[in-house]
Amino acid sequence: MMQIETAIARYLKSSGHSFIHLKAVLFDMDGVLFDSMPYHADAWVTSMAKYNLPMTREVAFMNEGRTGMSTINLIYNQVYGKDASKELIDEIYLNKCNEFAKHPDPPRMPGAWELLKKLKATGITPVLVTGSGQHTLFARFDRDYPGMFEHDKMVTAYDVKYGKPNPEPYLMGLKKAGVAANEAIVIENAPIGVQAGVAAGVFTVAVNTGPLPNQVLIDAGANLLYPSMVALYEKWEELAEHLTVNH
Ligand code: CA
Repeated sequence: MMQIETAIARYLKSSGHSFIHLKAVLFDMDGVLFDSMPYHADAWVTSMAKYNLPMTREVAFMNEGRTGMSTINLIYNQVYGKDASKELIDEIYLNKCNEFAKHPDPPRMPGAWELLKKLKATGITPVLVTGSGQHTLFARFDRDYPGMFEHDKMVTAYDVKYGKPNPEPYLMGLKKAGVAANEAIVIENAPIGVQAGVAAGVFTVAVNTGPLPNQVLIDAGANLLYPSMVALYEKWEELAEHLTVNH
């Protein structure tokens, strides 16, 4: 309880807002709504190795949330000290997508559906904010999260010019939800996504669903941290109570 109050007080002080009144929750996708990150990490390690670009699983998790293009160029730069060509980046990214597609469809993250049901029941709008541009994305949401996300309240790779850690995706999410920064929270599992949420001026909750130490998410600026989506779901009422202003 104290920890939540302290976290909100810190946010209000740094953002200049005088309160948070929750109307929308901006959800990241991979590692928050779907337990897909182990598959993505495998696909990165395998496909990059084919091009003699060594990448560990940890590096894949550290760079989660970046666009595929900038991830490839970042590693290429570390190895060769220069930018990769557009053709090479496209080829490697296609290879990575093909590796990912060899895995089964990732399951829903435990706790996510249950949390969404609580939000819906209290009139809070869920909004998707992902850097992913998978063409099957809308169909997958209709199947795995029916009725939870309206298509016109989804931010994908096609909506934005800059990826996370730029605040643009989350600013776009606020716009689509029709709410101000102090009328929403962000839920993120990756350091770069946390940076994007914080840069957008939104109270950012980290859920550590992967192998990185908590401190990496705290250092990225997370306002609060939960060990899993199940933990966030179980403690939701306690948090929500602090995110409502009775005018
Ligand atoms: Ca993520």
